[in-house]
Amino acid sequence: MAIERTLSIIKPDATARNLTGKINAKFEEAGLRIVAQKRILLTMEQAGKFYEVHKERPFYDELCSFMASGPVVVQVLEGEGAIARNREVMGATNPADAAPGTIRAEYAQSVGENSVHGSDAPETAAAEIAYFFSGLELVG
Ligand code: UDP
Ligand code: MG
Repeated sequence: MAIERTLSIIKPDATARNLTGKINAKFEEAGLRIVAQKRILLTMEQAGKFYEVHKERPFYDELCSFMASGPVVVQVLEGEGAIARNREVMGATNPADAAPGTIRAEYAQSVGENSVHGSDAPETAAAEIAYFFSGLELVG
């Protein structure tokens, strides 16, 4: 399994509850290295562009409003098979279905306010990392 990078976002429900450190500990315990990280406040437009793939879904407007409702921590995680590994650490989208010990099982509040985002494939990981970080910000 190759070393990969993936884009992670700690969502507004989690930053509001001061969970950044606890969530980062889950990543590090799973062997994921946080190689870039910043706390930002997305505009509706920026959130909408990030989630453009979901534009036609019924939850799109609510999702964009939520993602712009408070600070998020955007980060690049690196490690062996980082894309799939991060998805495992996150747990299922709906916390009711998330495996015990996963971030969403422990911290998510609902299927929408589910504490974290993680890229789902190599192509989306590359595009999502480039959306938030320049090459100069990725020092490994
Ligand atoms: N979402 C929602 N309602 C749904 C499905 C998804 O509000 O029925 C939100 C939720 O915040 C989720 C995001 O939209 O994390 C993106 O959905 P996706 O299916 O890509 O889930 P993820 O990849 O985040 O597990
Ligand atoms: Mg997704």
